[in-house]
Amino acid sequence: MSETIEKLKGKSKSGSLAAGLNILLPGVGYLYCGRVILGIIVLPFVIGLIYVQPYAAITIWIVLIIDGFLAAGRYNKKLEAKINAAMKTCPQCAEKIMPEAKVCKHCAYKFDSTPETKSA
Ligand SMILES: [Zn+2]
Repeated sequence: MSETIEKLKGKSKSGSLAAGLNILLPGVGYLYCGRVILGIIVLPFVIGLIYVQPYAAITIWIVLIIDGFLAAGRYNKKLEAKINAAMKTCPQCAEKIMPEAKVCKHCAYKFDSTPETKSA
């Protein structure tokens, strides 16, 4: 279980990288943040708009750069919620700790070695 948490922690996205990718090619920052459909739609839209309304395209491009940065933040927030859901809460100090922990690293509270029984 903690391997999953470690994997999730490693998946956090950099906002500046997402913004930078959207500078190079609009929409690629969204692909990086896991928003595949949005990323695929945005690229031909902005490239097509450059030929019709170049100023509008540049304005949208700038908005996409900023939103690429924010998209990484939104992604990381969802990831953090997933990580928090996977962790257990210490009954004594209410800190989040790894699900396999037998002793709380914050207050040294000892958990029962018997696994939690789930009512069927
Ligand atoms: Zn504790």
